[in-house]
Amino acid sequence: MKYDTHVHSTFSPDAVSTFEDYSRKIDEGKVCGIGFTEHVDFLPECGAYGFFDYNAFMEKINEYRNKGYEFHAGAEIDYVKSVEEEIKTHLQFHSYEYTICSVHMINRISVSNSKKREDLNTDAAILDMLEKYYNEVYSGVKNGMFDIIAHIGIYRRSLKEEYVNEKIELVIKEYDNELAKACANSDKIIEVNSSGLNSPIASTFPNVDFLKLYYEYGGRKVSMGSDAHNAENVAFGFDIVEDILREIGFRYIYIPWEKGRTVKI
Ligand SMILES: [Zn+2]
Ligand SMILES: [Zn+2]
Repeated sequence: MKYDTHVHSTFSPDAVSTFEDYSRKIDEGKVCGIGFTEHVDFLPECGAYGFFDYNAFMEKINEYRNKGYEFHAGAEIDYVKSVEEEIKTHLQFHSYEYTICSVHMINRISVSNSKKREDLNTDAAILDMLEKYYNEVYSGVKNGMFDIIAHIGIYRRSLKEEYVNEKIELVIKEYDNELAKACANSDKIIEVNSSGLNSPIASTFPNVDFLKLYYEYGGRKVSMGSDAHNAENVAFGFDIVEDILREIGFRYIYIPWEKGRTVKI
């Protein structure tokens, strides 16, 4: 019983697969249900700003549901505190089955795509980015608008290895510890994003250490998301994620489109 709660279709500008492509993955038995979380962006610098067509999206969701597919309408909200009012207004007029809070933009530049950021080349620059990143995620955790906190630690994609020294790792550890505690004390579901397993980082977001801390602080609500931008990657690495979670002690995966629904690992 696998449910992928974070995929993108051609309703996102950076994805290549249609709903039809994803429906075939259900036919093939790769997943039981799929949550589409297209990019909904509010900063003009974001890659999908102004792209998302809500009405056409909902129409397609309903079309496939009527055909019997377990497709769900989510949204990956590109969160930064400075556009919180715009997000609130959007959510007032557009309803989704669940919302994902994703922090991508720090100093108005993405830390989440695979491009290494040339400007993050000193301790000071990295520490500044980290402070801002964790502050934004905290605000998302405290915010009532979201159901899921996505891919914690995604900024690792933008860091060049040679600049990540012991001091930086230590600071990250401290931030992770505090954030894991805050997540465990919140009502949010923490997404385990498997997309990093396919990259040189070879790690989930958040990573195993963070998930252990979250569990130790009493956190139990985790979901799985592949962040597929191509239907071929739906549920990518979920067996590995399940092993990681089981090993830590987790017994259930949370299904965000139905409050309180869980699936045994
Ligand atoms: Zn994202
Ligand atoms: Zn995504």
